[in-house]
Amino acid sequence: MMTKKLLFQLDTDAIANGFDTIVGYDGGADHVIPHGGVNPQNVGMLVDGCMFARSSREKQFSAIFVGGSKLAEGQALFEAIKKKFFANFRVSVMLDSNGSNTTAAASVAYLIKHCPAAGKRAVVLAGTGPVGQRAAAVLAKEGAEVVITSRVLARAQASCELIKERFGYDCIPVAAIDDASRGKALAGARIVYAAGAAGVQLLRETDWMDNSTLEVMCDANATPMLGVQGVNMADKGVECHGKIVYGALGIGDLKMKLHRQCIARLFEQNELLLDAEDIYGIAKTMV
Ligand code: NAP
Repeated sequence: MMTKKLLFQLDTDAIANGFDTIVGYDGGADHVIPHGGVNPQNVGMLVDGCMFARSSREKQFSAIFVGGSKLAEGQALFEAIKKKFFANFRVSVMLDSNGSNTTAAASVAYLIKHCPAAGKRAVVLAGTGPVGQRAAAVLAKEGAEVVITSRVLARAQASCELIKERFGYDCIPVAAIDDASRGKALAGARIVYAAGAAGVQLLRETDWMDNSTLEVMCDANATPMLGVQGVNMADKGVECHGKIVYGALGIGDLKMKLHRQCIARLFEQNELLLDAEDIYGIAKTMV
């Protein structure tokens, strides 16, 4: 009898996200077991079950996915799960709170294809959410000088601190309260990543169309109003006002393939740990 591939979907929100359940199946799991309200304090028994229930040979067929809307909570849960493992009593784990790692990895992999980031200024607009923070981290990993904007300086600073703590990179926090101030924050930028909440416009077309340094731009927001006026949802590496632009659907296809590919890889061994760096590494091989 074939050993069933079981994916334990551990969500930090009260109700486990159905999107992650579906992609779990589409990525090759035979059965996805969603749990909501999981945190570092109550995860122990779930991890013990995964670690001990199967023989060494079969452990690779149990895996854990960590999701939820809050990246900091997901990161803490991911760390708590890893701490439980010892010797070969471990299973593969993937962290992707709110699609942060897969979305950021897929879109930055596209952007740097057109504009290698080393030494370039990259501005992550509204970069305080899960996607923006991970996009900032992978852009910094590529050697960019990364600016993170927020409507509130303290929130931009907090995101920069989290990135420093987790990845060791310095980012620059900038307060930008409206479209005009976000447009000003693009001065000298070659790469712009709009990571605002769904349905929120961050830039008017007039705020970016004449920017003479800007080379590539991505808007992750797929819900009208879109984040960047003038960039269409389906744009995929098309030229607009002399810049290469990507809309949310333009990156969405790779994001979905990447998410599925990561799930499939979890079942190839019992010690894979997929967070931003490795997921980004996989994305770069798929562009
Ligand atoms: P999020 O946490 O919901 O929001 C990101 C930031 O947007 C917030 O931290 C906030 O920053 C800012 N914001 C919220 N309301 C605002 C307003 N009225 N005006 C200006 N700024 C506002 O977003 P996320 O989960 O990181 O996701 C980012 C985007 O990616 C979303 O649009 C999401 O739908 C999209 N997404 C796309 C894909 C894809 O495949 N294309 C996949 C996943 C997610 P401050 O409060 O600090 O200003």
